[in-house]
Amino acid sequence: MKINGKIVLVAVATVSSQGAFGLNEKVRGDDLTNLPWSDLSTSLSSPELLLDTSPADYVAQCVPEFQKDMIDRHHLNLLEAPSGLCTNSLSSGFQDATPTQNVSWAEWWAEWGHLTSLPQDNLPAWLDPKNPLYNIPSKVLFPANAGDASAAVGFAKQHNVEISIKNSGHHYMGASTKKDTLHMNMNKYKRYATINGPSECKNTTIEEVFINQPCNLALARGRQATLRIGGGENFNMAYDAVKAFNEDPQTSAKYHLVGGGSGTVSPMGWTWQGGLAGMTGGRKYGLGVDQVLQVEMILPNGLHVRFGPTAWEDSDYLLYPKITKVSGECNENPNEEDESLWDWKVCPDVDFDDLWFAVRGGGGGTWGVVLSVHVQLHDYLPMEIVTTPVGAVALRLLRGEVVPQVFQVAAWEFMIDFLWNPTALGLSDDDSNKCGSTLMSDFFCYGESSGANLLTAWKDFIIAKNTTLLSLGVSSALIDDSIAGSPNTMFADFPDQLLATFQAPEGTQGPHDDKAIGNEKPEITPTPQISTFLLPKKCILENREYFLEFFALIGQTPVGLGSFYVAFGVDAEITNDQTTSVSDAYREAGVQFMHPLNYILPEFDFVYEDIMSMCYDTENKDNFPPIYGSNHAGATLLGPMKSNWTKSCPAEWTLEQRESDCISIQEAIYGTKLLGRLEGIKNTVDPTYMFDCYKCVGNNRVDAMESSEPTEGTSSASSMQVFFHLILVGALASIL
Ligand SMILES: Cc1cc2nc3c(=O)[nH]c(=O)nc-3n(C[C@H](O)[C@H](O)[C@H](O)COP(=O)(O)OP(=O)(O)OC[C@H]3O[C@@H](n4cnc5c(N)ncnc54)[C@H](O)[C@@H]3O)c2cc1C
Repeated sequence: MKINGKIVLVAVATVSSQGAFGLNEKVRGDDLTNLPWSDLSTSLSSPELLLDTSPADYVAQCVPEFQKDMIDRHHLNLLEAPSGLCTNSLSSGFQDATPTQNVSWAEWWAEWGHLTSLPQDNLPAWLDPKNPLYNIPSKVLFPANAGDASAAVGFAKQHNVEISIKNSGHHYMGASTKKDTLHMNMNKYKRYATINGPSECKNTTIEEVFINQPCNLALARGRQATLRIGGGENFNMAYDAVKAFNEDPQTSAKYHLVGGGSGTVSPMGWTWQGGLAGMTGGRKYGLGVDQVLQVEMILPNGLHVRFGPTAWEDSDYLLYPKITKVSGECNENPNEEDESLWDWKVCPDVDFDDLWFAVRGGGGGTWGVVLSVHVQLHDYLPMEIVTTPVGAVALRLLRGEVVPQVFQVAAWEFMIDFLWNPTALGLSDDDSNKCGSTLMSDFFCYGESSGANLLTAWKDFIIAKNTTLLSLGVSSALIDDSIAGSPNTMFADFPDQLLATFQAPEGTQGPHDDKAIGNEKPEITPTPQISTFLLPKKCILENREYFLEFFALIGQTPVGLGSFYVAFGVDAEITNDQTTSVSDAYREAGVQFMHPLNYILPEFDFVYEDIMSMCYDTENKDNFPPIYGSNHAGATLLGPMKSNWTKSCPAEWTLEQRESDCISIQEAIYGTKLLGRLEGIKNTVDPTYMFDCYKCVGNNRVDAMESSEPTEGTSSASSMQVFFHLILVGALASIL
C-alpha cells in the first residue's frame, strides 16, 4: 500500500524506524473542489492568480507542443501555457509516468519511449482528459509575492490541503505536479535577479545586521558578490542578470554564476537536489548547494523565514569554511508589498540548522515554498572549450575511422589522471578542477590557458609514450593529429556559448531566437530514461585497470548507451561547508555514469554486480549505500531488488511489486542512514505532509515501513565483459 497518488490512503499514525509519521488524510476530489476557495482568492494580490484547472487544460495547452516536430518545440512554450500545468516531458503529467492502466511501465515505454512526436490527430486514448491516471492539480495559484504564498500555505493549513510547486516542470520524476493539490506555479513570482542584478559586497559592514548575512558569508569564502534569485526565476534570467552586469560600462568587476546547463532549468529544484554544474565551473566551485548563502521560505507551519549561516570556522585546507551556526528570522507581515517594511523578528521554535541542512540537498518541493535564494558569485574567468583526447577518439570512431585500442586506452589513461590524479601529469588539483563538462568529449575550462594546459599535458603525455605506441602499430599521423588542437576561445562565458550553439540550428535563424537560451526540447518521455550511478573517484583510482577497460568500452558504444557527467572536483571536500544533505556518493564521485535503466537493458546489471560491490560498502544489509545522483534520476528509476542487491528491479513486475520489493529511489539516492535523518527532519518540519511531492523525501514512507524482506546482496563474477560483448556484436541494435 502506498499513499502518494492513486492508492488507498490510511489515516493512522504508523511507526517506522525513524519514528512516528504524522499521516494525515488530505482533502481530495470533490471535497477539495467544495472548499471555500473564494476565501483564498480574495486574500491574494489579485483574485485572477487562482485558477480552476483540469486534465482537459493539460490536453489543450500542453499536448500540442508534443505534436510539433522536435525542432519547433521549446520548453518556454510550455511555460507560457496559461494553466501553468505543463511539464517538460509529457509522461510527467501522469502518475508514475505511466498513462495506461494494466500495462507495465516498460511496455508503455517500449511503445512510446522512442517516438519523438504525437500524431497530429487521433490522439492516443490515454490522452483522454478522463484518464484517471492524470497527475494534474485542479487548482493552480500563481503567487506574485510573499503575501500570496503565505495566504496559500495558510489556506492549505486551515483546510488540510496538500501543496505542489513548480518552477520549470523539468523534474525527471515528475515531482513538480500532483493531483488533488493546490499547485503553486512560481512563474509569476517577483523577479529579484532580473530587476536588481548582482550585489557587490564591497560596502558591507561585517556583523552589521542579518541583511548583510549573505555578503558576510560570501566574503568569508573569498567571494565578492551575491545574487538574489526569486523562486520563479530560472537560470536564463540569472545568467542574463550577471551578463548584463558584466557588460555594463559602469561596472568595473565581472562575475561568474555556477548553474545548470539549460536556460529554463531553475535554481530551485536544481540547487536543492544537489546541482551539477559540469559546464559552469562546478569542479572548481562545488555543487549547486555549495553556492547558497541565504534562503527565504514559507514553511509548512506558515512562517515566513529567512535563514543562513552566521558562524563558521576557517581552515587552510577548505575553500569554503566549515559552518558552525545557522540563524534565521521570521517576518511578521509578509503581506506588506514594500520589503523594506517587512518586520523581521526572532522566530518561535524553528531549528534553522536542521532546515539549512535538509533544504540543501534534500530536494525541492518538500520543505516549504522557496521565495528567494541568495547565491555567491565568483570572479569572472575567461572560458576555453577543448575537445578532450577521448572526445577526439570518439569523433574518429563516428567517422568510421579505425583507432587502435592501445591508443584509445592511452587517451583514457590520460583522462583518469587529468581528472583524479593530476599530479601524475605535473598538474595541480586546481588545474584539473578548472575543467569539467556534462560529457567526457568537450570540456569547459575557466581561466587564462586553462584549456590550453589540458592540451599541453596531453601532448607531453602522448609524446612520452610515442615509442611504445609506434611499436604497437599506432601511426605517427594519429599521434601528431591528436596534439594539434587548440582551445576554442570564441565565447566570453557559458551563456554566450549556449546562445550560439542552441539558438540558431545549423547557422540559420532559429525558431526560438526570442526565447530562452538552452537546448530544451520537451519530449514524450524524458530522454534518456536514465540511471545516474555515481562512480567514486577513489574506487576508480584503486581499480584503475578495471575502469580503464570500462571507460574505453563505453567510449566505443553509441552515446545513448552511456555517458559520463563530469561535475565533481578532485577533492570536493574543499567546497563542502559540512552542512549539506547531499550524499557522500555525490561528494566523493568521480563521474556520474548515465545509462538506460537496467530494467530496460538488464545487461546493465554489471553496474550492481561488479561496480557496486567494488566501490560501495554492501556488507551491512541494513544500510543501503547512496549510489545515484538526484538531479537526473529517471522517472521510474529504483534501486536493485531488496532481496538481492546485485539484480535490477525486474521490468515485468507490477508497479506495486517494484516499489515494495526494490530499494526505493530515495534510499538509493541518500542511503539508508542519511535518508533516516532527512525523514526525521521532514516529520518535524512538515508533520502533516502538506508538501509531499512524488519521489521526494518521505513520499515512500508507507512502502518503506512494510518491507522486511531479508537481503542476500550476493555478488557474482564480473559481467561487464559479457555486456560489452553483447553490445559490440550488435545484439542491442534493435533498441538503438
Ligand atoms: C533540459 C534540462 C537540462 C538540465 N540540466 C541540468 C544540469 O545542467 N545540471 C543538473 O544538475 N541537472 C540538470 N537537469 C536536471 C534538473 O536539475 C532537475 O530536472 C531539476 O528538478 C530541475 O529543477 P526545476 O526547478 O527547474 O524544475 P521543477 O520541475 O519545476 O522543480 C523541481 C523540484 O523543485 C520543486 N520546486 C520548484 N520551485 C520551487 C520553489 N520555488 N520552492 C520550493 N520547491 C520548488 C518542485 O516542487 C520539484 O520538486 C536538467 C534537466 C533538464 C530537463
